[in-house]
Amino acid sequence: MKLTFLGTRGYIDHATTKHARHTSTLVSYRGRQLMIDCGEDWGNQVHDVRPDAILVTHAHPDHAFGLKAGAPCPVWASAESWQAMNDWAIEPAYRHTIEKRKPCNIEGIQVEAFAVIHSTRAPAVGYRISAGKASIFYVPDVVWIEDRTAAFADIDCYIGDGASLDQNLVRKDKDGNLVGHTPVRTQLTWCQKEGVHRMIVTHCGNQIVAGDAQEIDVKLRRYADERGVQAGIAYDGMEVVLR
Ligand SMILES: [Zn+2]
Ligand SMILES: [Zn+2]
Repeated sequence: MKLTFLGTRGYIDHATTKHARHTSTLVSYRGRQLMIDCGEDWGNQVHDVRPDAILVTHAHPDHAFGLKAGAPCPVWASAESWQAMNDWAIEPAYRHTIEKRKPCNIEGIQVEAFAVIHSTRAPAVGYRISAGKASIFYVPDVVWIEDRTAAFADIDCYIGDGASLDQNLVRKDKDGNLVGHTPVRTQLTWCQKEGVHRMIVTHCGNQIVAGDAQEIDVKLRRYADERGVQAGIAYDGMEVVLR
């Protein structure tokens, strides 16, 4: 399984060459390409990526709004995300609903959706993805993962939310539901608890994108070392092969 980090920027105004594009990742296996998320700054360029299928984590602008004018291939999303994307110009034959905790095969790649807490208006899922001998769990925006033990079972790598390294971006909405983003430091603790040895940070927020790169690296390494996890920050164009 090859991962190409097409974009690694969260929903922030600040952008750098390392984190220029909204978060999107291409999963390639045996010549087939699965694109995860397509935010508003992708626009028509989704056609240049030439994916065989697109998976949507949730219907926030930085994850799905690049599909408003249509999609070049089948799109898989939860029923809640399809509600939000109902009026978009995606042709009916390309609309596939993915049910939570029901593994399915998309272009030869195993995909299972897990509910996560992140937003009340745009309910999100994370994806457990397996191809060949490699498995990952991918969730770019997350407060909490439901059924985390099953989601993380035997994965080679956890790809998580870099909106914050160690600052609190979790809050309560008017109904008392938790929304926002859990810091990387806490996600590393999840990895430690579930015996996951590697984390790649994507969906980078202001702390990472606008911060001092060396200072951020030192902090990340310390948090990761303390938990026995190997961690790194993804950048646009980064490729990782998992076997
Ligand atoms: Zn986001
Ligand atoms: Zn979001």
